[in-house]
Amino acid sequence: MKAAKARTKRLLTRCLAALGLAAVLLSAGCAERPRLFEARLYAMGTWVDIAVFSSADTAARLFEEAEALLRRFEVDYYAWADGELARINRELAAHGEATAEPEMAALLREAQRLTIASERAFDPAVGALVEQWGFHSALTEPAPPPPEAIDAWRRAGASLAAVEIDGVVLRTKVRDLKLDLGAIAKGEAVDRLVALAGRHGVRDALVNAGGDLRVLGRHRGRPWRIGIKDPRAHGVLGVIELENGEAAFTSGDYERFVDRDGRRLHHILDPRTGFPVEATQAVTVIAQSGVVADAAATALFVAGDDWHRIAPQVGAAAVLRVDAAGEIEVTESMRRRIVSAIEDEWDVIAES
Ligand code: ADP
Ligand code: MG
Repeated sequence: MKAAKARTKRLLTRCLAALGLAAVLLSAGCAERPRLFEARLYAMGTWVDIAVFSSADTAARLFEEAEALLRRFEVDYYAWADGELARINRELAAHGEATAEPEMAALLREAQRLTIASERAFDPAVGALVEQWGFHSALTEPAPPPPEAIDAWRRAGASLAAVEIDGVVLRTKVRDLKLDLGAIAKGEAVDRLVALAGRHGVRDALVNAGGDLRVLGRHRGRPWRIGIKDPRAHGVLGVIELENGEAAFTSGDYERFVDRDGRRLHHILDPRTGFPVEATQAVTVIAQSGVVADAAATALFVAGDDWHRIAPQVGAAAVLRVDAAGEIEVTESMRRRIVSAIEDEWDVIAES
């Protein structure tokens, strides 16, 4: 049943990707002047849209490589698939030591830096906790684990800060430490797709993974413009402009949740308490890379009212936050990017 479902999804994804590619090729004349080409494929649990200004040939080759990259990526960087990260977790559990591929090791070093900078608001060592809550699989219904289980998890001291990263070798003394890169992997994937576009000589592009995105260059001579989703209603809170190379990522409590007894149980957990964060509805961060924007959005979501203090530590200058009551706060750097806002009563926060 599960396998059949996965097969159908895979097939559907392939068909859609093929259709997308075909449509793109048909509309591509033979002009050499860069034109807009778009492709969409389903990966990492979301639609990934790639828009590039290029020749038809370049777009076709780029989209093919992008698809191969994403297919490998979602297996290797997802803790509950059968790839690189699952292998690392198995080896860490068995011997407290594992060797990572160089690209994975580099990402883990950056993730470790952000874990420490965020004072563990962001900490990818939450894998076992995420499993206890049932947020690791679309097929499980999330529910609170017994309090003893959360206490035991907290006492075990699982943290990426407790992993020694020596080149490509990882070591830890903490038992049952399970890495989950869910809060940073999309950032890394978007960065790799943008780098791929760059290698193909593309100067203007947008890579959008379900609203988490990064741009290159401009859109027809103007900065790329993107909408920030309203966390509680259909539509956007406002529209912002992005400069060359910038990423904008959002963490929201509406991505994966169940409402139970008037409380929202959702997939962003505070590693210090072991519980879903209740102080925030959504945080959007603009940064120079997808990795930093993705991790920082999660960190500031978890930081709650303390977000002003953590933001500069994780390199997040442009921030928009919607608190539990739906009040919107923006930093001065974010305010400067806003080209139109639904709400003009936003609180502007001075940056430290
Ligand atoms: P989104 O689902 O919108 O991409 P995030 O980037 O914030 O949201 O990632 C959330 C995912 O990261 C969760 O599904 C879980 O796998 C993992 N996670 C949850 N809480 C944390 C945390 N505090 N630090 C690191 N990873 C987390
Ligand atoms: Mg994130």
